[in-house]
Amino acid sequence: MNPRVASMQIIIIGAGVVGVTSAYYLQRAGHQVTVLEHHPAAAQETSFANAGQISPGYAAPWAAPGVPLKAIKWLAQTHGPLRVRPSSDAFQWEWMAKMLANCTVEAYQRNKNRMVPLAEYSRDQLKLLRAQTGIQYEGRTLGTLQIFRKAAQLDNGRRDADLLAKMGVVHELLDRDGIVKAEPALAHKAAELVGALRLPNDETGDCQLFTRQLASMAEQAGAVFRYGVDVLGLPVKNGQITGVQLSGETLHADQIVLAAGCASRQLGQLLGLDLPVYPVKGYSITVPLAQTGAAAEVAPRSTVMDETYKIALTRFDQRLRVGGMAEVAGYDKVIDPKRVATLKMVANDLFPHAGDLTQATPWTGLRPMTPDGTPIIGTTRIRNLWLNTGHGTLGWTMACGSARVLTDLINGDRPEIDTSALGLARYG
Ligand SMILES: Cc1cc2nc3c(=O)[nH]c(=O)nc-3n(C[C@H](O)[C@H](O)[C@H](O)COP(=O)(O)OP(=O)(O)OC[C@H]3O[C@@H](n4cnc5c(N)ncnc54)[C@H](O)[C@@H]3O)c2cc1C
Repeated sequence: MNPRVASMQIIIIGAGVVGVTSAYYLQRAGHQVTVLEHHPAAAQETSFANAGQISPGYAAPWAAPGVPLKAIKWLAQTHGPLRVRPSSDAFQWEWMAKMLANCTVEAYQRNKNRMVPLAEYSRDQLKLLRAQTGIQYEGRTLGTLQIFRKAAQLDNGRRDADLLAKMGVVHELLDRDGIVKAEPALAHKAAELVGALRLPNDETGDCQLFTRQLASMAEQAGAVFRYGVDVLGLPVKNGQITGVQLSGETLHADQIVLAAGCASRQLGQLLGLDLPVYPVKGYSITVPLAQTGAAAEVAPRSTVMDETYKIALTRFDQRLRVGGMAEVAGYDKVIDPKRVATLKMVANDLFPHAGDLTQATPWTGLRPMTPDGTPIIGTTRIRNLWLNTGHGTLGWTMACGSARVLTDLINGDRPEIDTSALGLARYG
């Protein structure tokens, strides 16, 4: 605890990876933390079964030059990565318009320049946390591999490599031999690949396992987790939240942190805040690995990202997680069997003997996405409200860094990275 900073009562709304990491860092900084969570346990919503990548090297906004044209193509493909279900919700249109406006070269570079330092810082904070706590989450530190099936993808990969070089992110462009060296289980496929981009400092791990372990650690350190409760109201007086209303009781705290993932927008609306966080739906399957003793030769060692389908395949200890896709379809969480079939098709194409796909467990989750891909971290015009939300495609990658930055901001300390463009103010 910084002796300059008085201990405060802090309520965190949401026990996903972002809320739990916030709880851990704030409790460790000497505050009295209470986490309020709708579900009966931590990491039951979007942090439940994501693709498992901790990938600063792959940190980039989805809004990129060329994406509007590619999107038209993807929408027509059976196994394309994108679906849009237009609705009468004005926010859907507004959000898509803002996202399209971010598809320029300048906006892409500006947004990437905000995302990469946070993601790299986050990976380094995770390393530190691992060293300090010994937390186990089926983590691996073997990098990630983005594979290209077409020359045009490799050209884009080269352009990305140039950007990474400028930002000082370690990376390797690989030919077929390099691909097989990095991921021997791709040997049977190498002839069909034209190259790959490897990010050796990226990591992998099970986000749900991590979040639940870290919640226990925070609890042991004194944080209170109240599961099965819904935050229903946040009354404001004189520019300050006066209480957190649950069913039948009102809690009080010095500071409130909104880390409610896709529900952050609705909770923000209670306070008159317009948080541009849209639920972009994704899917995953989790496949038990074949018990042949030869998993190393038939399953990936780490994450393989298939650029054609935008699908990531990540190795956990005895499981393969296959995740991806983007559906702009509101808050609907019905599992579409066609999307599951695409995930199985890619898993079978790349790692046909890794596991029994009939045993795959399907899942869908809603990414809390901002139009510029960057999370919203920092203060608001409501004096005791802090935001840590909108992590979109990279919440697992950015959680530790975001929580650390938030803790510094709440303590009045200067964060170790530039946070001036991470706040809600960038949306005016
Ligand atoms: C298919 C898929 C693949 C992905 N792959 C990756 C990846 O490989 N790497 C990566 O970095 N990221 C990945 N992501 C993104 C990552 O999973 C998310 O960014 C992250 O989980 C968001 O965490 P969160 O804590 O903000 O939200 P959540 O995990 O959704 O947590 C928010 C919590 O707030 C609670 N809550 C909401 N409203 C209330 C209320 N009123 N009262 C009480 N509780 C409330 C919810 O119940 C929920 O538990 C992926 C996402 C998807 C969908």
